[in-house]
Amino acid sequence: MKDGKETARRIERKLKEAGLRPTRQRLDLAGLLFADGERHVTAEMLHAEAHRHKMSVSLATVYNTLNQFAAAGLLREVAIEGTKTYFDTTISDHQHFYFEHDGTLIDLEPDEEVAVAVQKVPEGMKVARIDVLIRLVPDE
Ligand SMILES: [Zn+2]
Repeated sequence: MKDGKETARRIERKLKEAGLRPTRQRLDLAGLLFADGERHVTAEMLHAEAHRHKMSVSLATVYNTLNQFAAAGLLREVAIEGTKTYFDTTISDHQHFYFEHDGTLIDLEPDEEVAVAVQKVPEGMKVARIDVLIRLVPDE
């Protein structure tokens, strides 16, 4: 992590602005999530990562913290196959390539059409299935 102090300050500010008290555990987990670049993690993935960084935190705490971050608008939930929930650090509207063999997600361009996206399937991969979910809310 380069320039750790500046990153830590930015992350503490981010939590406060979202209305979350910057507890040690929230800061530690936010540090993993928001230090650099876009991330797509499940609670299990982040829990394993926390342990690699010698953080002592339970899976339940990781799960609760991710849900709190999502409720505060810091993360977007992405449900895959109904049971697996990923938490996405990119909260703007976008779709994903999902790599079934290793469970990774890659962002597509915002508002990119499916027909365009399928032209960009990475070398060595092919489309297994396309799920499009158009979410609707009452028009008021
Ligand atoms: Zn994403």
